[in-house]
Amino acid sequence: MSHVMNTYARLPVAFSHGQGSRITDTEGKEYLDALSGIAVSTLGHAHPKLVSAIAAQAGRVLHTSNLYGISGQEQLADKLCERSGMQEVFFCNSGCEANEAAIKLARFYGHKQGIESPTIIVMEKAFHGRTMATLSATGNRKTQAGFEPLVHGFLRVPYDDLDAIKEIAEHNNSIVAVMLEIIQGEGGIHLASIEFQKGLRQLCDEKGWLLICDEVQCGMARTGKWFGYQHAGIQPDVATLAKGLGSGVPIGACMTNGKAAGLFGPGNHGSTFGGNPLACTAALTTIDCIEQDGLMANAEKVGALIRKLYAEALSGLKGVVEIRGHGLMIGIELDRPCGELVGQALAAGLLINVTADKVIRLLPPLTFSENEAKELVDRSVPLIKAFLAG
Ligand SMILES: *Cc1c(COP(=O)(O)O)cnc(C)c1O
Repeated sequence: MSHVMNTYARLPVAFSHGQGSRITDTEGKEYLDALSGIAVSTLGHAHPKLVSAIAAQAGRVLHTSNLYGISGQEQLADKLCERSGMQEVFFCNSGCEANEAAIKLARFYGHKQGIESPTIIVMEKAFHGRTMATLSATGNRKTQAGFEPLVHGFLRVPYDDLDAIKEIAEHNNSIVAVMLEIIQGEGGIHLASIEFQKGLRQLCDEKGWLLICDEVQCGMARTGKWFGYQHAGIQPDVATLAKGLGSGVPIGACMTNGKAAGLFGPGNHGSTFGGNPLACTAALTTIDCIEQDGLMANAEKVGALIRKLYAEALSGLKGVVEIRGHGLMIGIELDRPCGELVGQALAAGLLINVTADKVIRLLPPLTFSENEAKELVDRSVPLIKAFLAG
């Protein structure tokens, strides 16, 4: 009997080492990794620059404390702000923590204006994490069931529906923020339209609300730009990061801009581990490699190729509802639950995922090559066809 708490339905495999987009299990079998540990391994496995940067940092100092200055954190905040258009960064260790910081910030912002019960508009099918506040913000009953009472102060609307938000704006004076993923990940790879994003930015400006973009999955160059909101040319007031930021070393960030900047002072928020020297080195190296290796352009190009090849191979096939995504964040929606494809792909040496029951989700490392894209499609299409025929 395992002593590890049973919080995951784990696949019957464990890995020992990897290289690039390939990873090898403890029995010596090799897999093509089209999931990156859920959008985490930005640089693939064992990227030589990341390996040596982490080793060198470990040889200097791993952790000090936020009681002291941390030069890597200063550098990383500079680099993130330069690329995101934001002004300030709070560092933490995960996506839910980054979102907790954003939620606390929005409430703090509301209280400063005398709003007694600040409310945040959130989306159907959203995923923001599994802490009490973030699971309350999440739009999935399965994540919430059994953990009531939920945290109050969230109001839910359909995704990509500006009219629903405008209607709330007319009669609710307690709203302080709107929180959303520009591309919903766990919810099934749903993309917010450009018009919706621009209209929402304008509405938030008119109402004095904070626009909070949860970029935990779609950020860090995965969609071909540094951040998902940059495709619409909008600037959020708060943006959160984690997953791909440290390429496998845990680090999260909550970035603020404009009216959301400068709100927190000493004592308002904190983290023991957040932004420690090791994690910051991993994130700084990830950013350098994304730029030096041209990984943003690669994500755009290889992502488009993957969608095109799947469209060619699966078009007209009964059971395939839609192939969608942006860059290397790709969903193939089927007309039926298809979780069993994950195990079948694993047996065939492919790491993929299924989310929202019916959506095959692909999140390869940003280093994924065109040949690996072709290989992924060639090897997975027969599995999808057999599944749909069976
Ligand atoms: C994964 C995810 C989270 C939660 O991140 P954790 O690091 O697991 O806490 C939050 N928001 C989005 C959009 C995510 O994809």
